[in-house]
Amino acid sequence: MTTFADKSTDADSATGLAPAEYIALDERWSTHNYHPLPVVIAEGEGAWVTDVQGERYLDFLAGYSALNFGHRHPDLVRAATEQLGRVTLTSRAFRHDQFGLFCRELAELTGTDMVLPMNSGAEAVESAIKVARKWAYRVKGVPDGQAQIVVAGSNFHGRTTTIVSFSTDEDARADYGPFTPGFVVVPYGDAAALAEAVNDRTAAVLLEPIQGEAGVIVPPDGYLAEARRLCDEAGALLIADEIQSGLARTGTVFALDHERVTADLYTLGKALGGGIMPVSAVVGRADVLGVLRPGEHGSTFGGNPLACAVGRAVVRLLSTGEFQQRSTSLGARMHERLSELVGNGVTAVRGRGLWAGVDLAPDGLSGREAAEALLRRGVLCKETHGHTLRLAPPLVIEEADLDRGLDALAQVVAQR
Ligand SMILES: *Cc1c(COP(=O)(O)O)cnc(C)c1O
Repeated sequence: MTTFADKSTDADSATGLAPAEYIALDERWSTHNYHPLPVVIAEGEGAWVTDVQGERYLDFLAGYSALNFGHRHPDLVRAATEQLGRVTLTSRAFRHDQFGLFCRELAELTGTDMVLPMNSGAEAVESAIKVARKWAYRVKGVPDGQAQIVVAGSNFHGRTTTIVSFSTDEDARADYGPFTPGFVVVPYGDAAALAEAVNDRTAAVLLEPIQGEAGVIVPPDGYLAEARRLCDEAGALLIADEIQSGLARTGTVFALDHERVTADLYTLGKALGGGIMPVSAVVGRADVLGVLRPGEHGSTFGGNPLACAVGRAVVRLLSTGEFQQRSTSLGARMHERLSELVGNGVTAVRGRGLWAGVDLAPDGLSGREAAEALLRRGVLCKETHGHTLRLAPPLVIEEADLDRGLDALAQVVAQR
């Protein structure tokens, strides 16, 4: 781990305001599309962040898994810093020396044929949707304009107009219509409903192997394998959105690996940028991604040299298996300890690896209240959907720190 030794730029960046003043600035000058906890972070290292007053907190959210390798992992900072000293952006009008290496290394890590690099997770999902539709018309032979994509209820795939068109979360959707047609929503985890929805117009089934935003929902055994079988039967693509579940979060490169299921396309994001910058990608079959021709899709920043250099360093970290192993062993410890809370302020715990959704008892604190109580005990996490806490500590967290955070959680949920 690096230290905070290099303080040489602090005079430029530190502004020395009180927390309430920073919060007032946000409230006055930014849109109110988030409701952050009242902590103003100034620095981060590993699993820890420090606020503007020098208080330290354990980060049990890890940027919704964008920080799987912790804050400022030295290998990632080094890769970014080195690339900053060379070239950061070329646009795809020209080639650069990081691009092909990043694509090859990511394809090799994921066992896929090729890579379409983008920036945000939502863009990766949008790209996968576009590719699947084009594939349906060009290859599968779906009549023009009739391709359907089957998705699951309670999904979270991002915030674009097309993606919220098939959200079932009213807050995410309301007042953003008219919506993009061509999506069929079925209940998550219900193989019979999926079987009924998939047909010869189906371009793809798009699923999160574990639904993160919905509260870390793990589908019933065999569901994902059945989704694979139904796609094969109907000649449709299976698209796994692994933006949150992938890249070691559950103990494997893909959460789908636990089921021994292979998707045709995967979307990756969040941790692919190492918590440093947005890096996303669609990875998958050459005969599917190969439908794209020059001019048919693109992004000014997608696959830029800095993103590729950081992404390559992320792939190198994942290629050792160390982080997958940490997720597995620390996750086993976390789930063992969380299971002891069931009945003591907690009604259910779900998840895989170092990733959990914790349902709080309805007669206890709300999710927000619990997150605020944890903040007071020096632990940062966030509620989702009212009474669920989502825990996703960085995979670099020390076991003692994991225990410290779980001790705080046990105290908080015991409050009624
Ligand atoms: C976060 C997330 C996205 C969207 O990623 P952004 O980078 O916020 O656009 C898409 N799918 C899943 C499963 C996610 O968790």
